[in-house]
Amino acid sequence: MKKILAIYIFLFILTSSITAQENDCDYPLRQLYSLNHLSETYRGNGFAENYDLKYHRLSWFVNPNEYYITGEVMSLFKAVNDSIDFLEFELTHNLTVDSVIFHGEKIAFLHKTSGILRVTLPVFIRKNQLDSISVFYHGQPENNGSGSFVKDIHNSNIPIIWTLSQPYGSRDWWPCKHSLNDKIDSVDIFIKTLKGNLAASNGILVSENEDSLYYYCHWKHRYPIAAYLVAIAVTNYTRFSDWVFYDNKSLEILNYIYPESVAGFRSNIQHTIDVMQFYIEKFGFYPFDKEKYGHAQFGRNGGMEHQTMSFMGHFSEMLVAHELAHQWFGDYITCNSWQDIWLNESFATFCDGLVTQRFQTPQTYLNLLRDRISSITSQPGGSVFVPAGDTMSVNRVFNYRLSYQKGAMVLNMLRFMLGESAFFTAVRNYLNDPSLRFSYARTDDLRKHFEQVSGQDLSSFFQNWIYGEGFPSYKITYYPVKNHLTIMIEQFTSHPSVSFFSNPVPLLAKGLYQDSLLVLYPQYNSQIFDIDLAFQADTLIFDPYYHIISASNLLIKKNIPFEEGTKFIVMPNPISETFEIQFLEQLYIKNITLTDLSGRVIYDSGDLGKIVEPGEKKQVSLAGFNLKPGFYLLKITNNFNYSVKRLYVLPDKP
Ligand SMILES: [Zn+2]
Repeated sequence: MKKILAIYIFLFILTSSITAQENDCDYPLRQLYSLNHLSETYRGNGFAENYDLKYHRLSWFVNPNEYYITGEVMSLFKAVNDSIDFLEFELTHNLTVDSVIFHGEKIAFLHKTSGILRVTLPVFIRKNQLDSISVFYHGQPENNGSGSFVKDIHNSNIPIIWTLSQPYGSRDWWPCKHSLNDKIDSVDIFIKTLKGNLAASNGILVSENEDSLYYYCHWKHRYPIAAYLVAIAVTNYTRFSDWVFYDNKSLEILNYIYPESVAGFRSNIQHTIDVMQFYIEKFGFYPFDKEKYGHAQFGRNGGMEHQTMSFMGHFSEMLVAHELAHQWFGDYITCNSWQDIWLNESFATFCDGLVTQRFQTPQTYLNLLRDRISSITSQPGGSVFVPAGDTMSVNRVFNYRLSYQKGAMVLNMLRFMLGESAFFTAVRNYLNDPSLRFSYARTDDLRKHFEQVSGQDLSSFFQNWIYGEGFPSYKITYYPVKNHLTIMIEQFTSHPSVSFFSNPVPLLAKGLYQDSLLVLYPQYNSQIFDIDLAFQADTLIFDPYYHIISASNLLIKKNIPFEEGTKFIVMPNPISETFEIQFLEQLYIKNITLTDLSGRVIYDSGDLGKIVEPGEKKQVSLAGFNLKPGFYLLKITNNFNYSVKRLYVLPDKP
């Protein structure tokens, strides 16, 4: 039998093209934001922290033919500080405040050009005391290109008005407290518009009526809601409902769709029922189950996860799945800072992947993962976590490659590492955490739940993959002989913020009739694994199921036992403080290193750049290194290759 010795090199060629899924999520509309003019104040930190918002009664009149709003916002609040004598809201200076009413009287206010509405209270309000205040206003909402209040048309000439306030846009159209630390405990929303239109919003539609000129409706929402998730959309909608049945309960999916789009979207919208049932199975409940879920069509290409009423530009399976997932990840539990936006977006992106896995072919799912990895690794840097200095850059906060795709694939990697059961138990524990539910979360809150369930310390995993930048590339050298495989895993990182990614490395060992997925956990660079298999493996394939984020990986099959360097010998071995390398053939030597099993470099010759002759010896002295007993790795590198040898240090004799 002729033995064919082949070297298989698998080069994962990267494409930097942006994937088709981009149009299927809420990313593109965010790209239009430009908020450079906003000051740091709008992060919400330190602003309006002397009161706790309990309730808003929001009353708006909008005419879809006019870029204009007339409103009254009644706020019920509780004083948080000892005695407060002023309140602040955010409201663009483009809008005119007509009056502020407190205890039935008009009171003084200052509407600053910076967009702060400061109201001076005629009395002190004691700590924990409840009180209310109403702001009446009108005018043209601020049009800063962010799309927070939009007048548009559909079907050639039918007018529509919709709002979209994430991340900083509520202030463009209503006086609000736009922080990420105080949800409004509940809201009532009253909308008046021209007859012939319907208005979609948050919560339950309590009542609607009309007179000869106007249409009126009342929406009631009795769950805590972040200001940016309050929204309205008004046009000549057609309305219809689907119903989800689960656990002897029924849940309404209420849809507001352009009349001309109903026929085209009807069957896709119905798919929401399957996705809702699937999520309830996975996560155990729907957060707003006493009310409803719904869709309102709008003129943007993506979607926006307004609480209990997502606004949708189309109804692809991915977009439906993405926006619905946000009801758990984003609305029910909201990121506590825009630095943690991945807790919203990466989870929703992970979930639209889950839906693809559940409802599409295995190949479609693999292609999705492959494309996501390809997009993530199209640039060498970038962290999932948004750096503190970047929270005012909406393009950075909603960076599709990082906040959506990379975070989603990190979650996928955790799912692979922890296993299906532990991963989803941790996610359910996170969702049921009393300190997070209907409130806000930070990255560490999620990490703790994964650690509690798995019993693993994930701090370095999170440090590498969430806060650190870049990704690993692997060089896998393997030597198969009969049922035995020797594998060396070398790792190179694309960004200096991470020197070594601690994640499993999946390798498919393929034999003639059998294969097996090996999952190796390198703890340091150039680690060697000796593996016994039940069959003879001829080939290794790198991560064929796209479990980990990596790129430009290289596999090299050796036909000689690469560890037993035939080109040199070491004397003595076990080694002592000094040892000698004797070269057996002419070699170009670039560098010699000795590392311990944690990857720590004990000895580094530096750049040698010399040719050694057969028989030539080199002395290495490790005096002063206090070598502990155990294994060490000697590596001799030339320009294109290297040889390694395991050395031993014996314990001291008693
Ligand atoms: Zn999203």
